[in-house]
Amino acid sequence: MVATPIGNLGDITLRALEVLRGVDVVAAEDTRDSGRLLNHYGIAAKLVALHEHNERSAGAKILDLLAAKQSVALISDAGTPAVSDPGAHLVATARSAGYKVIPLPGPNAAIAALSAAGRAETHFLFYGFLPHSAGERRRDLAALKDQPWLLVFYESPHRILASIADLTSVLGGERQITFARELTKLFETIHTLPLCEALAWLEADPNRQRGEFVLLVGGAAPLEGAGIGEEAQRTLKALLAELPLKQAVKLAAEISGEKKNALYELALAWKKDDGQEGA
Ligand code: SAM
Repeated sequence: MVATPIGNLGDITLRALEVLRGVDVVAAEDTRDSGRLLNHYGIAAKLVALHEHNERSAGAKILDLLAAKQSVALISDAGTPAVSDPGAHLVATARSAGYKVIPLPGPNAAIAALSAAGRAETHFLFYGFLPHSAGERRRDLAALKDQPWLLVFYESPHRILASIADLTSVLGGERQITFARELTKLFETIHTLPLCEALAWLEADPNRQRGEFVLLVGGAAPLEGAGIGEEAQRTLKALLAELPLKQAVKLAAEISGEKKNALYELALAWKKDDGQEGA
């Protein structure tokens, strides 16, 4: 599994070049695209196509090659194969047939974005592409809404405006978003701003909507009243869903042993947040 550049052809490892030169066959997502990369480095490899639409049939042929003791390198159009790219099915089949699968680490758009964005968050959740259809996209975002970690998305220029609109409406406009666009290429841009300003920023210059994007979006804000244990917060939340506020707070205090005042403050803060979202 050989990682290849995400733009700048110089971003290829010595080991990747050595392996691409040495293998019997290079399986590539787009043989024309990869042909250019290989030509650039003077590598005359035997190419076979393995892409999203033929992964199973091409995978079976690759297993035949492996059975005939041929060595195969898998590359994708950009970055690390099998990361938001084809390859995982082939790897699973090859592994279960007892073949050794070796990763050659290298470029990856998400990691490149994270390394240069300067975000303070220490944990992140890599989501990759959101669904194309608006309904499914919003459903996925709703499921991510309460996650505390930095969210990492891939997006193409065709859906960037629609995705930003949905990110803003589902997650709220207060979170910070980083656009990491055209990394390692001529028009590389890394820009952070609040989500509520993101759509206007994109629309202010059509060039900002072009190219490939990694989006880094802040996670859910830590719960108010962080001093209150998670278990007590969960209890309070469950009781608030069923009972009037005062009664829920009283019971939550009895069950959890937390101070009634602190629970009361927290319940009020939640209520205020819900009111703002509904507005
Ligand atoms: N396997 C690749 C990797 O390791 O990053 C990802 C492949 S995925 C099909 C393509 C998506 O990756 C693009 O739509 C974009 O979201 C992101 N991407 C790829 N190259 C990029 C670049 N140079 N700058 C920003 N994002 C990029």
